[in-house]
Amino acid sequence: MDKTKSSVVKGIPGSPGIAIGKVFLIEEDFPVVLKKIPKSMIKKEISRLHNALSQVREEMYLEKHKILKVLGKEHAPLADVYLRILDDPILKKDVANRISEEGINAEHALSATIEKVVQSFEKIEDEYFNERKNDIQEVGKRILRHLMGSQRKYINEANADSTIVAHNLTPADTVALYEHKVSAFAIDIGSKTAHASLLAQGLEIPAVVGLKNITAIANNGDDVIVDGNQGLVIVNPDDETLENYRKEHEIEQQELYELKKLRNVAAETIDGHRVTLTGNIDSIKEVKSILDSGAEGVGLFRTEFLYMNRDKLPSEEEQYEIYSSIAQKVLPYSLTIRTIDLGGDKLAKFGFDDIVAEDNPFLGLRSLRLCLKYPEVFVVQLKAILRASAKGKIKVMFPMVTGLAEFRQAKKIFEETKEVLRKNIQDFDENIKLGAMIETPSAALTADAIAREADFLSIGTNDLIQYTLAVDRVNENVAFMYEPLHLSILRLLRHIIEATHSAAKLVGMCGEMAGDPAFTTILMGLGLDEFSVPPIAVPKIKKIIRSSSIADSKKLVQEIFGTDDYNTVVNLLRKPHQKG
Ligand code: PEP
Ligand code: MG
Repeated sequence: MDKTKSSVVKGIPGSPGIAIGKVFLIEEDFPVVLKKIPKSMIKKEISRLHNALSQVREEMYLEKHKILKVLGKEHAPLADVYLRILDDPILKKDVANRISEEGINAEHALSATIEKVVQSFEKIEDEYFNERKNDIQEVGKRILRHLMGSQRKYINEANADSTIVAHNLTPADTVALYEHKVSAFAIDIGSKTAHASLLAQGLEIPAVVGLKNITAIANNGDDVIVDGNQGLVIVNPDDETLENYRKEHEIEQQELYELKKLRNVAAETIDGHRVTLTGNIDSIKEVKSILDSGAEGVGLFRTEFLYMNRDKLPSEEEQYEIYSSIAQKVLPYSLTIRTIDLGGDKLAKFGFDDIVAEDNPFLGLRSLRLCLKYPEVFVVQLKAILRASAKGKIKVMFPMVTGLAEFRQAKKIFEETKEVLRKNIQDFDENIKLGAMIETPSAALTADAIAREADFLSIGTNDLIQYTLAVDRVNENVAFMYEPLHLSILRLLRHIIEATHSAAKLVGMCGEMAGDPAFTTILMGLGLDEFSVPPIAVPKIKKIIRSSSIADSKKLVQEIFGTDDYNTVVNLLRKPHQKG
C-alpha cells in the first residue's frame, strides 16, 4: 500500500463537522519483551502462535470476502497478498523453530523472523519489494496484536490540530481525550452509537468510525481531512480537495455562529407548542458546552464514566462533589443523573468481576442488573445523588430496566437509602423525581405499568433499537441495518409515549435519535415531551423545532402510520413539513 498517495476512506459518521489537520497515529504499541520459555512449556507456546495465526487468518478471510463483495473480483489480489504472507511457511515454521530451538516466547520469535525478512527486502531497491516489506510488517503487527492483547501508547503527545487515527479508542483514550484537545478522530471499528462516537459528539469534535483499515492507510504526520458529516476520511488530499473542504469548513463555522444566536430562545414551534430541550453529558467537563449551547439543563448524565479507568471505586464524597457541583452549575434547570450503566462496551476494571468475562456482554450482567447484584456499590452512588439533591434540582433514572419488577426492586433500594439519610439527619430533596429508562423491548411493551410507578420515562433509543432489531450497536458490519425508522421502532415509540401520557407523566428521549435533525418532526408529532441531545446538536434541533408546527408534525405521523412501507416513510419525512 502506498502510504503517500491520496486516499479517500469511507466509514460511518460518528460525530458531525469537518476537521483539517495532521494524522497522529496510535499504532498498537508492541514493546516485545524477550522471555525464556521452559522446555515443558514450548508446545504450549507454539500452539499459542498457531492460535494467533488462525485468528488473523479468519480476520483476513472476512476482509477478503468483503472486498470481493464490495469492490469485485478484480480487487481480490489486494486481499490475497496478506493471506499469502500469512500462509508463507517461513512464518509458521521459522517462528516455531525459533521458539523451540532458542526456548523463547512467540512474540519475540515472531519479531525476529519479521525483522529478518524485512532486512532482506530492504537490500532490494525496488518499489514492488518495498511494498511487500510494508505488507509483511503489517501482517506481523496483526499477529502480535493477537498474541499480546492491546498494549499501546496513548494520546497525550498529540497537538491540538491532530487527528487521532487508531484501531479503536480504549477507555483510557477516552479520558485522555477529555484532558487533551485534539481536532478529530478516525478509527477502524465502531458505529454511530458506539461510545467512541458519543464521546466525540460530547467533545464536539468530528469523528468517523468503522473505517476498517484507516490505521493501515494513514501515516503519522500525513495531512488529513475528517468529514464527520459524510463519514469520509481523506488522507493526503490533493490541493483542490483541500481547498473545497476549507471553504466548507468556513461555511460550517459561520452556520454554527448563526445557530448560537438561538441560545436564549425557547424550543417552541410556530404554533406555540413547547418542548424541553436538554443535553447529554458524560463528565463534568462537558457542563460548559451545555451552558453555552442553550440547553435547558442536563437530560442524561452518564455516570459510569466515573467508574472507568481507575483502580478503586469513586467514594460517596467524590461523587457528591461532582453531582452537587453540576447541579448547581445548571440551575435554574435540572440535572438528570442516570445511575451506573457499566457493561456492554463500557467496562470497569474492578469491583464487578463478572462483566469482564462474558461472551455476550450486551445481554449479560450489565447496567441496572449489575447494580442489583452489587447493592453495596449502588447504594454509595444513590447516597451521593440524594445528598447532592439538596444543592440543586436533581432527577434520577435507572438504565436498562427490563420490567416493572426490576424497577420496583431498584426503587426499593432507593427508598431504603432515603430512609438511611433521614436517620442520619442528612439533607436531600424529599420530592426528588425517579425515572426509568426505556431501552429494552420488554420495558417498552410494559411502559404503561412502569409509567404508573415512575415519575417520568426516558427513551434510550441506542439500546432500544439494538435490542428490538437484533443489531449490535457497535458492530460496523451490521450498522446498515440499524434503522430508527423501522416500523417496529416507530410503533414502540408511539406505544411508550401514549402509555406515559395516559399515566399523566412526561416522557423524554436521550438516545441519539433525539439529536438527529432528520427525526425531530416525527418525534414531536409522536408527542415527545423532552429531547435530550449532545450539546452540539442543541441549536440545530432547536432551529427545526422553531420552524415546525405541531399540527403538521402530527399530520406527518398520521401519514407515516398509514403506510407500512419503509420507502414511503422516508419520502414522507423528506416532504417539506417545516417552514423557513
Ligand atoms: C441509549 O441507550 O439510548 C442511551 C441513551 O444510553 P447509552 O447510549 O449510554 O447506552
Ligand atoms: Mg443505553
